[in-house]
Amino acid sequence: MKNRSLSSTTSYDATYKSLRLTQLIWASIITSFLSAIHRLLIGNYNQAAILCGSAIILVCSLWLIKKHHLQYATSLFLLVLTSTIGYFMFQKQGLRDEVIMAFPIVLLSAALLGNNRLFIAFFMIILFLLLANSIVNEIGLYTNEIAPITLNDGVVSITIFSLMAFCIWLTATDLQRLVVQLFRENQRVQKSKAEIEKLANLDFLTKLPNRMHAEACFYKALSKTMSNDTNVGVIFLDLDNFKAVNDGLGHQAGDMLLCALSRRIEKALGPKDVVCRFGGDEFLIILGEVNSLEQTLELAADLQLNISRPVFINDNHIETTSTAGVVLSPLQTDDFQQVIRYADIAMYECKKSSKGSVTAFTESMNDAVLARAELIKDIEKAIERHEFELYYQPKIDIRSKKISSAEALIRWNHPTKGMISPDDFIPVAETSGQIIQIGNWVIEEACKQCKLWIDMGYDKLVIAINLSPVQFQRSNVERQLSTAISCSGVPPTALEVELTESLFINDSEKLRKTLNSIREMGINLSIDDFGTGYSNLEYLKRFDVGTIKIDKSFISKLAEDEQDYAIVCAIIEMASKLDLKVVAEGVEVESIVGILSTLECQDGQGYFWSKPLPVKKFTTYLGKYYNAPCNP
Ligand code: C2E
Ligand code: CA
Ligand code: CA
Repeated sequence: MKNRSLSSTTSYDATYKSLRLTQLIWASIITSFLSAIHRLLIGNYNQAAILCGSAIILVCSLWLIKKHHLQYATSLFLLVLTSTIGYFMFQKQGLRDEVIMAFPIVLLSAALLGNNRLFIAFFMIILFLLLANSIVNEIGLYTNEIAPITLNDGVVSITIFSLMAFCIWLTATDLQRLVVQLFRENQRVQKSKAEIEKLANLDFLTKLPNRMHAEACFYKALSKTMSNDTNVGVIFLDLDNFKAVNDGLGHQAGDMLLCALSRRIEKALGPKDVVCRFGGDEFLIILGEVNSLEQTLELAADLQLNISRPVFINDNHIETTSTAGVVLSPLQTDDFQQVIRYADIAMYECKKSSKGSVTAFTESMNDAVLARAELIKDIEKAIERHEFELYYQPKIDIRSKKISSAEALIRWNHPTKGMISPDDFIPVAETSGQIIQIGNWVIEEACKQCKLWIDMGYDKLVIAINLSPVQFQRSNVERQLSTAISCSGVPPTALEVELTESLFINDSEKLRKTLNSIREMGINLSIDDFGTGYSNLEYLKRFDVGTIKIDKSFISKLAEDEQDYAIVCAIIEMASKLDLKVVAEGVEVESIVGILSTLECQDGQGYFWSKPLPVKKFTTYLGKYYNAPCNP
């Protein structure tokens, strides 16, 4: 490719040079003939003969050009020109003769048509001629005629000037051609630049405008609404099960799905609307002219319906639902970054409450997000300032009525807001990852406290620690437990961990290993809020679970709700067959204790016996009921 372009440049160069040389030679031949005629007319036959001879040799140069001997032709032309000028210089007035004005033509021609070597050679020759003329005159070897200026001299000057003008004209046209070429080249560069810019604004995969370009699209649409009193509707749309498609069918199938859906959305939109690919499986749809939030919601719902139609990829029939958040601009905000934030918040809220549908942004959503951000900051400070405390709630053996164990429950004593319930900050700490630090502190603290109580003589007391699934995913719980055990000196059998069923949804090799090692340490595994989550009970045996805690929602209505009663009966029966211990949570009244007792549920936990208590109060409680039946 490179070679071809190089050779084409060379041939272009040769054609251009031979054309220019031909033009110059013809001009010189004509000039020589005209000058020869002039010389004949004034009776100067010698000079006329020289000029005619030059013209004839120049015709030979033309022949050389025809035979493609460009170099020879150029050299011959320059040689004829130089020698003719040299001859006339010596013949006439030497260095003072007007003929020497023609030397620049030689040099200009050499520079334009020849090469550096030729240029230097002729430059030297001219220098030599000038020097020679001055020397021979100086030493008296030869003396040039010095005559007054005549009309003849004028004719000679005009002839030389004409030839020089022609040479300059050729150079100028070449320069002009170069300028045109440069201009065209520049245009091509500009076009490529625009193309590159366009590509930078496009999403490579779907060919939709990308995130970078979305902002410009939004402001363009917004500026148009100013004149016609409408709004821009923005839909932030996120695919619900894209990850599953990607993981299950591969990235290529995922890419194909995104492209197919992009085309579908594009088709469904009007001429004033734009769809941009915002991120992995997120689309931003800018509706150019809408009247209300309701209308935007309707259009979003239509799009979602469209998206949910099956797509066929590699013989697979894929159905994708999507969740969307909607913002109306400029009514809700006219700032693009805010629009995106609001639409994202609305989408996120919608995903939490009704995945697969669409919600419009409301101020209260923003308040919730701001409150959450503040809470995260507060939790950070709480960790630094040790504002957390562990409370303990007893679990009672229903038959013997004695304390069997106690659950450690975290409390946050906020300096200005007072006690904050774990239900309010644990979910936030889970999403922010702060649960790792908090959870580790709970483990250490519970182990230390348990050891203290054992040392006080309550040696059969078991302390249950709540562990979040996030701790399993993002930290090494097994190591945290073993470190806390060795630091505190508590026997591992005095510990129990409460796990929620959601932990088993993402069953992985890592989880299996962790749970097995925890079990091997001698720590009992207990399943919290049993009955509310995952329905596949296979994990109960696989992980050697020791206890299940029936969720308090079933226990509280045990007396009046037949269904809850049936569920509790079934759970207790199943647990007995699997040899699992059952704990009933949220026992508030005596009548429930009675029912649980007849159903042969082993343990109960709830306000009926005691609320969660701070260490001091729980120590008193232990003193009172550790060895005696707990009769509130
Ligand atoms: P959970 O593990 O289900 O804890 C039991 C919750 O029920 C506790 O709420 C407890 O105070 C409450 N409770 C106990 N008896 C009764 C009763 O008779 N009636 C009613 N209505 N409620 C009763 P708490 O302490 O507010 O904790 C709420 C949740 O926060 C816990 O639910 C647990 O999921 C989480 N949590 C608490 N401490 C920790 C912790 O240290 N780590 C983790 N990861 N989560 C914790
Ligand atoms: Ca629990
Ligand atoms: Ca529970």
